[in-house]
Amino acid sequence: MLEISDLVCGYGQVAALKGISLTVGQGQLVALVGANGAGKSTTLRSISGLVPARGGAIRLEGDDVTRAGPQRMLRLGVAHCPEGRRVFPHMSVADNLAMGAYLRPSDAALRDDYARIYTTFPRLAERRAQMAGTLSGGEQQMLAIGRALMSRPRLVLFDEPSLGLAPNIVEQMFAIIGSIRDAGTTVLLVEQNAFAALELCDYAYLLEAGRIVKSGTGAELIDDPHVRAAYLGS
Ligand code: ATP
Repeated sequence: MLEISDLVCGYGQVAALKGISLTVGQGQLVALVGANGAGKSTTLRSISGLVPARGGAIRLEGDDVTRAGPQRMLRLGVAHCPEGRRVFPHMSVADNLAMGAYLRPSDAALRDDYARIYTTFPRLAERRAQMAGTLSGGEQQMLAIGRALMSRPRLVLFDEPSLGLAPNIVEQMFAIIGSIRDAGTTVLLVEQNAFAALELCDYAYLLEAGRIVKSGTGAELIDDPHVRAAYLGS
């Protein structure tokens, strides 16, 4: 579904991605793991059109989308769930969700989308009128995920969904991401919680200082001595 080849990206003098290649197959959950500053968020921002590519190519179902930009990527069915949740704090839960569906053509479709999200996240249904800024961290993360799903994406990019959450909520978050894949949506997941991401994914890439240094199934990376020593604490 998604094919990235030799992607080069940066900010001013900083070379964040130095020519990375990766593939995400239709219906797969692919994890991108690595240390702080490795370039994981930049990879997602580049796919969703927020950071322009300086070289290489991004293809979505065979079409070149390297310079598509964020609006077109959303229209093509790519949703980005950014790091740090970024909900609109002074808007209600329902209005935050509506922001994720602003491309929806009709009110009926929007009602269906609300119903779908509220079934997945009953907690959001209970709190639909509450200001998003007053939700707990876990609830805000659910809202960010729900907002991304409102556009009925074919591919969702998750950036550190477990960041800053209590351990029991982290587990719940990974279960939700697994169920999104199981429902047929393709997922590219960026995580510092490498073990949980590797356990859940179909395939994984390890990013170090702007380069892919290893790839394999989650089990293969969990067994890899370098991955174990550097990222799994054993
Ligand atoms: P983290 O897990 O800490 O978010 P990451 O793997 O997602 O790390 P990126 O955020 O993609 O890493 O950053 C890659 C490199 O690009 C880093 O060296 C970072 O300092 C730099 N960088 C990221 N955003 C900017 C920016 N807006 N301006 C300048 N440099 C940036």
